[in-house]
Amino acid sequence: MTDTTAPDIKQVMRDYFLDLDAAAKDPDRRVAWCTSVGPAEILRAMGFEVYFPENHGAMLGATRVAGETIPVANARGYSPEICSYLTSDVGACIKGVTPLTKAYGIESVPKPDVLVYCTNQCKDVMHWFKWYGREWDVPVLGIHPPNHLPVIEQEHIDDTVMQYRRMIEELEGMTGEPLDQQALRQAVAESRQATDLWADALNMARAKPAPMSFFDSTIYMGPIVVLRGDRRATDYYRGLVAELKARVEAGEGAVADERLRVYWEGMPIWGRLRHLSELFAVNHTGVVASTYCNSWIFSDFDGDRPLESMAEAYLKIFINRDDDYKEAYIERLAGEFDIDGVVYHAARTCPNNTNSHYNLPQRLKNKGIPGIVVDGDLNDLRCFSDEQSTTLIEAFLETL
Ligand code: SF4
Repeated sequence: MTDTTAPDIKQVMRDYFLDLDAAAKDPDRRVAWCTSVGPAEILRAMGFEVYFPENHGAMLGATRVAGETIPVANARGYSPEICSYLTSDVGACIKGVTPLTKAYGIESVPKPDVLVYCTNQCKDVMHWFKWYGREWDVPVLGIHPPNHLPVIEQEHIDDTVMQYRRMIEELEGMTGEPLDQQALRQAVAESRQATDLWADALNMARAKPAPMSFFDSTIYMGPIVVLRGDRRATDYYRGLVAELKARVEAGEGAVADERLRVYWEGMPIWGRLRHLSELFAVNHTGVVASTYCNSWIFSDFDGDRPLESMAEAYLKIFINRDDDYKEAYIERLAGEFDIDGVVYHAARTCPNNTNSHYNLPQRLKNKGIPGIVVDGDLNDLRCFSDEQSTTLIEAFLETL
């Protein structure tokens, strides 16, 4: 008989953070910081425990600690117009606070031995990691792949692989040990299993009613962000898929009496997830698919050609593609999830994850996919109005 209960997500995340904290305090273990769609598999294969500052940024937003820490970074010359993950996180470091303390009793974020960023998502991560590099005198390694691609060419993959190889050499210089090729193959294969299961979980929301919403997924996605290449992510998602399957078979929806189905485009508004979740629920609307949660589906990982497949997978991500690709992508998902409309979040401090600025909503509307643009931000709630967004969303849902 199949167990249809997913492992407790809170416990999975707790164990991850406690182990990271222990690693940071143990002189025999090493910690690497990595961007959320950076080459985590290489770091894991080289024995590093991996920490993701964007995940910490999201925690700062969700707990609304960001409201106190963003101005601290602003005062140090980091503009209110740049990534509010960066400003929240840098401000938290300067202020000496972290939501990890309340959540897990951890005093501070784990101090890194190396900082590794990849600009496949944006260049803010480079500025962010370099701040820490200067502050703590820690080496910073960067991967700068080709950006905003219509198609992925072999030369793009070769370029990225070459940069991976250079980075591996530098990491080998730090650890004093060569990269274990078998460990890399295993890490990539493990990531592939986890990401396939994550895709299966998200695709369960094609069912009517959808068994989970975008707001649930922002919680369920924790392990695919922070535990790629680690068996714990695979185990978690195997359980989650079984649980969602059982919900679908029982006809259990994430919202009562689902009448409309919406696609969320752009970043979550972390400090207002509950408010928005309730708003859609009382309007009997399932937010059943999103660009954001789908961004951790990497179907190209292949343990038999680890570096090439990593390059391909991490180049192909939505945020790194041109506008035609994005239009076709949302159109396809709107069909697959039987979407009635799209809510585009224009995140003030993340133009990289905002796709409403270049006429995309109008083009999709012309194809029969209506949408609205909600102004807001991932972490800076000064850019978001409860009243205006509620009025806008309710009016939109009525027209559907
Ligand atoms: S993609 Fe946006 S939210 Fe993410 S790190 Fe870059 S600027 Fe910040």
